[in-house]
Amino acid sequence: MTQAERQEWDVVVVGAGGAGLRAAIEARERGARTAVICKSLFGKAHTVMAEGGIAASMGNVNAGDNWQVHFRDTMRGGKFLNQWRMAELHAREAPDRVWELETWGALFDRTEDGRISQRNFGGHEYPRLAHVGDRTGLELIRTLQQKIVSLQQEDHRETGDYEARLKVFQECTVTRVLKDDEGRVCGTFCYERESGRFFVLEAPAVVLATGGIGKSFKVTSNSWEYTGDGHALALLAGAPLVNMEFVQFHPTGMVWPPSVKGILVTESVRGDGGVLRNSEGARFMFDYIPDVFREKYAQSEEEGDRWYEDPDNNRRPPELLPRDEVARAINSEVKAGRGSPHGGVFLDVSTRMPAETIRRRLPSMYHQFKELADVDITAEAMEVGPTCHYVMGGVAVESDTAAAVGVPGLFAAGEVAGGMHGSNRLGGNSLSDLLVFGRRAGLYAARYASGPAGRPAVPDAQVRAAAAEALRPFSGGTADGAGGRPENPYTLHQELQQTMNDLVGIIRREEEMRQALRTLAELRLRARGAGVEGHRQFNPGWHLALDLRNMLLVSECVARAALERTESRGGHTREDCPAMEREWRRTNLLCRIAGPDSAEGQIALERTTTEPIRSDLLALFDKEELVKYLAEEELYE
Ligand code: FAD
Repeated sequence: MTQAERQEWDVVVVGAGGAGLRAAIEARERGARTAVICKSLFGKAHTVMAEGGIAASMGNVNAGDNWQVHFRDTMRGGKFLNQWRMAELHAREAPDRVWELETWGALFDRTEDGRISQRNFGGHEYPRLAHVGDRTGLELIRTLQQKIVSLQQEDHRETGDYEARLKVFQECTVTRVLKDDEGRVCGTFCYERESGRFFVLEAPAVVLATGGIGKSFKVTSNSWEYTGDGHALALLAGAPLVNMEFVQFHPTGMVWPPSVKGILVTESVRGDGGVLRNSEGARFMFDYIPDVFREKYAQSEEEGDRWYEDPDNNRRPPELLPRDEVARAINSEVKAGRGSPHGGVFLDVSTRMPAETIRRRLPSMYHQFKELADVDITAEAMEVGPTCHYVMGGVAVESDTAAAVGVPGLFAAGEVAGGMHGSNRLGGNSLSDLLVFGRRAGLYAARYASGPAGRPAVPDAQVRAAAAEALRPFSGGTADGAGGRPENPYTLHQELQQTMNDLVGIIRREEEMRQALRTLAELRLRARGAGVEGHRQFNPGWHLALDLRNMLLVSECVARAALERTESRGGHTREDCPAMEREWRRTNLLCRIAGPDSAEGQIALERTTTEPIRSDLLALFDKEELVKYLAEEELYE
């Protein structure tokens, strides 16, 4: 048997982004011996890339803001499909989480009177995003890392060992969540990316904080780490994923040159005054304000422009509609032949702000375009188009505790968890989500670990099976007895990305999704024969072969759920079912592993009904607005 060293911990946190680090800090502070494990270097998680800011209703720039308004905006943005209790907790607790970051050393941009500055973003009624230029994620991670180091120093003073209670395993990948014979979590199976060495972290509680799935799509703003690992780990451990059809296509990714296609152009560009134009120079977003938002957005350019100076007496410009609306509008303009030379539209700040202000407020954007596209955004417009950005669907969790449904000892927080954002996330609501639910996951995981469940033993058979699975690519092409030439994991990945991009992308059609499912089934069979050469020492082809299992699983979830939901809502747009149907508002789609593998696919779908929204929260909306979203019987109730 392949040997795997074992270590004992109370809580294992998989992922060292914002959610994982916040969870680890909380678990350690609650007394749990906590291990954090991440694929990349400590401090290099995807969160580092976050640009615009953290949404929290501190009311520093407009005193009208409060948690109720934030809750309302979040529910509207998610088209009322949000797990409302999560949206409530998020809106209530986000300000404390931002303040806390400041006490741990975060340096936010300030207002003139010295408070944490907050900026406008799409779908937020008031300026709400606490930020550090357009490098907010970097500051967030830096601060959480610093806090972790300070806790390790405390532990060293007490025990002589920095890693006695909090240890980071960097550049290591988890391939399985392990369970005991009674179905309780008992640890994780992992490998070191550099050496290929296997090891097991034994623990009664595991927090998944692995981020998103964007690398299943060809054009994406996401980093290499986003291969849907946590989603797949949860599925394989028996937990359902909820509403995987909702994938956010950010309206503004770079479209040119091809090597950087998909890289994000932050929404702060529009929040700070940037406007979208088509090839005829028209600010086309005024033609795309949907009925549900009509009363809340400016009807003329003049009114929209006045709003930046006088938001109390004017309505916001439609460039700041929620992302799903803007992405669809850009798609329509390009399709109608009014796009930019490279298949996007124009995003212009150069005529809206002095060059100096652009360089100060949007330093990363300035450099990104200058260096990658040779475009000076202080002098000319950017070309932008939709890019796969975020997954709203994820592990189904209990709202208060972040516990994964149906698997004792498993927790999930951050982008890997579903429910919070409904059918569409508002910008800035992810960083706040990471902090609010990262803390909660750490808290409840630590409580669970010290509770009556005790410390379930790790069955040897599971470790052996996980090791065999991880080694299979080295006998590629023969694993399923097929023989023949091994499949190249890079080719399979490219075909998967192209399939998801073309057939389950921003605008969806029934026949295309059926085709996608057929192609995914073929790819799944071929992926079993994915083979790699060489050995386990740093072997990126092997890593990709292992990641393919995860991408294929989550892609099938996305395609299956998207085919099932016969309406358009938020991040899910169907050309053949263009309306948002009130009857679908109460329906969640759960994906589970289907049992024995069949030609039908590996995912089974189940419909569940959401809990009615609590009456005091419903009372925050006008009845006229609720009528647009809620089904007849809900209104009656
Ligand atoms: P991540 O930060 O991605 O961390 C995931 C961690 O899991 C990593 O450490 C990774 O190594 C680890 N991991 C993954 N799989 C495994 C495995 N199998 N084994 C071990 N470790 C694993 N949101 C906002 O709210 N505001 C913004 O301004 C904003 N700007 C953005 C800009 C860009 C360019 C992008 C792409 C996103 C932006 N977002 C923003 C979204 C936000 O950054 C992400 O949703 C968020 O950072 C996700 O954090 P996380 O903690 O869930 O995951």
